[in-house]
Amino acid sequence: MSLYLDSAASAPPTPDVIARMAEVERDLPANPSSAHQVGQRAARAIERTRGQLATHLSCEPDQVVFTGGATEANNLAIQGALKAAQRAASAGLHPRLAPGARPHVVASAVEHPSVRGLLRALAERRALDVDWLPVDREGRALPEELHRLLRPETVLVSVMHVNNEVGTTQPLARIGKVCRAHRVLFHSDATQSFMKLPTDVDALQVDLLTVGAHKLHGPKGVGALYVRPGVRLEPLIFGGGHEGGLRPGTLNTAAIAGFGAAIDGFTVPEAARVLGVARAMRAALLARFPGLQLWSPDPGGVGTILAVGLPPEAEGAPRRASQVAAALSRHGVQVSASAACCAGAEEISHVHAAMGLREEQARATLRISVGRGNTSDDVPRLIAALEQALDGPAGGRRLA
Ligand code: PMP
Repeated sequence: MSLYLDSAASAPPTPDVIARMAEVERDLPANPSSAHQVGQRAARAIERTRGQLATHLSCEPDQVVFTGGATEANNLAIQGALKAAQRAASAGLHPRLAPGARPHVVASAVEHPSVRGLLRALAERRALDVDWLPVDREGRALPEELHRLLRPETVLVSVMHVNNEVGTTQPLARIGKVCRAHRVLFHSDATQSFMKLPTDVDALQVDLLTVGAHKLHGPKGVGALYVRPGVRLEPLIFGGGHEGGLRPGTLNTAAIAGFGAAIDGFTVPEAARVLGVARAMRAALLARFPGLQLWSPDPGGVGTILAVGLPPEAEGAPRRASQVAAALSRHGVQVSASAACCAGAEEISHVHAAMGLREEQARATLRISVGRGNTSDDVPRLIAALEQALDGPAGGRRLA
């Protein structure tokens, strides 16, 4: 039987989520913008989820914009804010940016590729300047460094809430406070933290916040962006007036309703149970494998993402996590050698590099992530499979 330990890449939809999506596709097939009864019932299903998001973000429903996933929400936040800032600057209305000046953005050194890759691409095109906020050995951004990086042209700071490779939680409120004092917009990608940690947008002091459904067992391809009142964004795509004109296109009723069902299922006791399984795994790994290192802080992280530095071979040769992950997969255990979006990359993870891991340490790091499908029975199963994978021919293979 397969043991799935890759929920940080995607958490499998629960039966409730699948049933809700099927029910909506079947019973509410109309366009949710249609004025007739079925259309209006579909619209109500969407508004129910919007209300749930607003409750968990401690904001108003009309401050939540649905998107086609977290990648898109990150793009809308960053590109939308930049375009709006430039427009305001050219009218002489931006508090920091002079007309015609190139905007400057600060992001943490451990952002997801949907933030990091976007900023790098825009910087290459000379559409902006970017600086990376450094992190400590645990992957935590250093708010005191932000003061040094801010410039008169800085229009946006983007720091994720929980890192997807190591699970480290970022000090958002401290960063947000600095941003507010300087009248710089603050965006956070909370894809890995939503429903797992408190995400009150006022407490976190964010202006824009990204969430996604499939890291909490909802469907893929649906996410949302919180937009603080008064924050100006420009849309990235054009069409009808959906989502206040910020994200046009007929809304995916079934996916949004499935997002709502995933929120319903991720109750506080259930989140605590899942965290308990992850903590038991962490303790068992440390007890069973001398020399194994856990790069994920606990406390100080989401707890359900375990970045595991594999111990070297008996002769001291470093392990290669990609080979151990492949051996585990042959034994029916699905984990990642790095984030799914970076799998197969030649370069070591930028997150591991920013944390100061040496190349061989980064290459020996597995990501094990726990979700609602896991129970305490999975702890001995993981240990047994890892024993085999580390002893077996593939697990024992040396660094090329
Ligand atoms: N941000 C973070 C932190 C993530 O972990 C992910 C998913 N790996 C994303 C954004 C992008 O999510 P999606 O691929 O669903 O758009």
